[in-house]
Amino acid sequence: MTLRVGVIGTGAIGKDHARRITKTLAGAKVVAVTDVNADNANDCVKDLNLDAKICANGHDVINSAEVDAVIVTSWGPSHEEFVLAAIAAGKPVFCEKPLATTADGCNRIVQAEVAYGKKLVQVGFMRRYDTGYRALKAVVDNNKIGEPLMIHCAHRNPCVGENYKTEMAITDTAIHELDVLRWLTNDDYISAQVLMPKKSKHALSHLSDPQIVLLETSTGIRIDVEVFVNAKYGYDIQCEIVGETGIAKLPDPSSIIMRSEEKLSTEILNDWKDRFIDSYDIELQEWINSTLKGEVNGPTAWDGYAASVAADACVKAQKGGIVPITMGACPALYN
Ligand code: NAP
Repeated sequence: MTLRVGVIGTGAIGKDHARRITKTLAGAKVVAVTDVNADNANDCVKDLNLDAKICANGHDVINSAEVDAVIVTSWGPSHEEFVLAAIAAGKPVFCEKPLATTADGCNRIVQAEVAYGKKLVQVGFMRRYDTGYRALKAVVDNNKIGEPLMIHCAHRNPCVGENYKTEMAITDTAIHELDVLRWLTNDDYISAQVLMPKKSKHALSHLSDPQIVLLETSTGIRIDVEVFVNAKYGYDIQCEIVGETGIAKLPDPSSIIMRSEEKLSTEILNDWKDRFIDSYDIELQEWINSTLKGEVNGPTAWDGYAASVAADACVKAQKGGIVPITMGACPALYN
């Protein structure tokens, strides 16, 4: 059986997901697209040579009888509306992060899904599909380094645009760590603090950069995440878990080791798309496979909610102090 997919939002990542479904992955085809920017929708269909209809809006995609499942890749503030509509229509929905722009919005989605009585929503936290992070998780889950005690992370971008604001260090950047570290540790956060080190002269005047996010989990694991989005030298993701009996570190992407001009060197990537390109493929293929079986096996609406609650606390902590993180009980649907 082929999963017939409708894509809402055919900008950068929406078009890229349509491309991978059409050209790289198996088991699905794109049958409908929409975008408020008509040129984007037209270009997507034309450039990828899709046999897909262009709908007037996201609701027409969701309610189309030809669409079995929906991908939401429009801009963040529209996600909640489309995910709720997909749940109301009883259709599986893959939503790029953020699930909603506020924790309350994510909670409304959780409540709607719980009321529906079956999981339909998967959130696009693709790091869970990265080979290195999966190896790290296997080390933790198989108790190879004992209980995790501390985790040191860095999320560095070469530069960011003028529209990038201080809170986006959390909501756009550290949000991936907030999800993946919770998944790695099988633990929830209880508090957040954000430190502002000496500011880089390469950061625009309105932006605090770098920042250090400090998290504490319910079992007492202490986590530090350096977010540095004008790091200049490349796109670099680091994660080191210190356990009771050993240390496990995320591998760097494989690269040729060069001996040349009296130097031993390896390349550092510059673009986040290259760093996680394989994980996007794995993420979407696994989503297609599980959706065809009527299951959700990836990050759930509850995971989207948890990341959003933690992000809200971190944004508040950017103004100072240690901010508690509380989520309430996880509904049985997600256990
Ligand atoms: P983008 O290039 O701006 O594409 C978004 C597209 O959606 C644009 O064409 C936009 O039109 C359109 N759109 C906005 N509101 C819409 C609506 N109500 N209905 C239909 N189309 C609508 O942005 P992007 O980089 O692809 O990002 C899209 C989402 O994916 C964001 O939430 C982003 O955070 C997420 N994302 C996640 C990852 C990841 O690593 N998991 C990576 C990239 C992006 P206009 O151009 O007219 O605004």
